[in-house]
Amino acid sequence: MISIVVPIYNEEDNVEKLFYEIKDICIKKHYDYEIIFVDDGSTDSTFGKTRKLYPLTYVRLRRNFGQTAAMDAGIKIAKGEYIITMDGDLQNDPADIPLLIEHLEENDFDVVSGWRKNRKDTIMKKFTSRVANLLRGIIVKDNIHDSGCSLKIYKKECFNGLNLYGEMHRFIPALLKIKGFTVGEVIVHHRPRIAGKTKYNWKRTFKGFVDMISVWFWNKYSVRPLHIMGSAGLICLGLGGGCGIWSIILFFCGSKMSNNIFPPLLTVFFIIIGLLMFVFGLMSDVLVKTYYGTTEDQPYSIKEIKTNHGENQ
Ligand code: UDP
Ligand code: MG
Repeated sequence: MISIVVPIYNEEDNVEKLFYEIKDICIKKHYDYEIIFVDDGSTDSTFGKTRKLYPLTYVRLRRNFGQTAAMDAGIKIAKGEYIITMDGDLQNDPADIPLLIEHLEENDFDVVSGWRKNRKDTIMKKFTSRVANLLRGIIVKDNIHDSGCSLKIYKKECFNGLNLYGEMHRFIPALLKIKGFTVGEVIVHHRPRIAGKTKYNWKRTFKGFVDMISVWFWNKYSVRPLHIMGSAGLICLGLGGGCGIWSIILFFCGSKMSNNIFPPLLTVFFIIIGLLMFVFGLMSDVLVKTYYGTTEDQPYSIKEIKTNHGENQ
């Protein structure tokens, strides 16, 4: 079974056409399918337009929580073995669904991300997206050309213990790669937005960048933040110690403290910073332990568990 999850926010002129495009391709391909529209607090007639559509699961969020939250809500109730996500503004083409499924199955990937090689967006959007993709390639190294493309397919188990928040939906492949899931990509169609307006502006670039730093940190130090903070703290303490020795040598060489205030000041500065960093690292360790203790999330992910009962069983 496949579940198609679509976050929707004020898309009154797109929802019906999108629904029928998805339904048609699923019927044509004889898929066992469910369509889930997650209404992210729409204030236009989106809800009214969808009332007569079936088969459709319609989730309504109480207010506008953002695309990531809407996606998470849809994914959590999806029953399919495969979960496909896409935008609700008709920019992604439901006709690409079979392509995603084939690419996933043929290569035994856990995730296949769409790549909008020929994007139908404004020059500005294409430019910022290029820069973002370049940075992501350097910082989080997910080896995906177009992680911002919503059209993706996932095996259901990818989401075990994965909670999406902030603007994180663009980094799902990166987060999954950290856990060892295999990620592929395939070139998909992209269409210009005909009806309705884009819901994003330049602020997204900054939020995306901050999220990227968070993913990078999570990738490297999620299990032992003390490794980074503690090491930096030790280096500062070392520098502080060095400056301390320098001050003592100067003192014994007869230099007056008032003439050379710099080394003792540096000593105090580095020792305080070093201690603070170390304590900060210890506190982050406690936070991480609390995190893994109170959520379903684990720093690792098991692909399968096989039991061999021998030849006779
Ligand atoms: N969306 C949403 N909640 C939001 C913003 C957007 O559910 O707060 C949906 C929107 O309706 C669309 C998809 O997310 O289905 C992508 O949004 P949009 O097309 O505005 O993004 P763009 O293509 O401009 O990057
Ligand atoms: Mg769009």
